[in-house]
Amino acid sequence: MSKLYSMRQHDLNRFHKKYRIAASGCWEWHARLNQCGYGVFVVGHSRAYLAHRVVYAHLFGELKPKQCVLHKCDNRRCVNPAHLWVGTQADNVRDMIAKKRHKPRTPQHGEDNPMAKLTAAQVAEIRRRYRPRKITLAMLGEEFGVSQATISMIVNSKRWRRNGAEAGSKRCSPMKPGLKKWSEHDRRTTE
Ligand SMILES: [Zn+2]
Repeated sequence: MSKLYSMRQHDLNRFHKKYRIAASGCWEWHARLNQCGYGVFVVGHSRAYLAHRVVYAHLFGELKPKQCVLHKCDNRRCVNPAHLWVGTQADNVRDMIAKKRHKPRTPQHGEDNPMAKLTAAQVAEIRRRYRPRKITLAMLGEEFGVSQATISMIVNSKRWRRNGAEAGSKRCSPMKPGLKKWSEHDRRTTE
């Protein structure tokens, strides 16, 4: 696993120009947002990360892929470190339910299912955009707020296809067979 969040002074200066402090105390990201409404920040020249994860890791240390950085303020574009806390995916789901942000799906996905955060449309988009060495698993993972392993699974079309089929939701796009197979070569070049 590479060092994701080593921001140099140059990155830090850029970071501080990309949010505005709201009356609520939130530092609201005014640069690019991902589909879920989280700020996206490019560190160095090419790697895109979730802005709130970047600032948290910068201040408090490297995050493990399964650690979620959650918002106390429930404002997804907020990057104020004082409004952030770190938890697991299960904490994230509990927090979402407590704040009634979740959209019920049928059947309910388990809390520990890393796919629970993604809609079928997002899964389709991840598959469409994935390009080895250009748009990597790590970049997509950051953008969609899930682990690299989850993205790998999606690209490989394993669990999601089954769950998507079970869900039978109208939001599910047809799952195309014959998706690109994950190779050892891709693994070496994207991690
Ligand atoms: Zn906030």
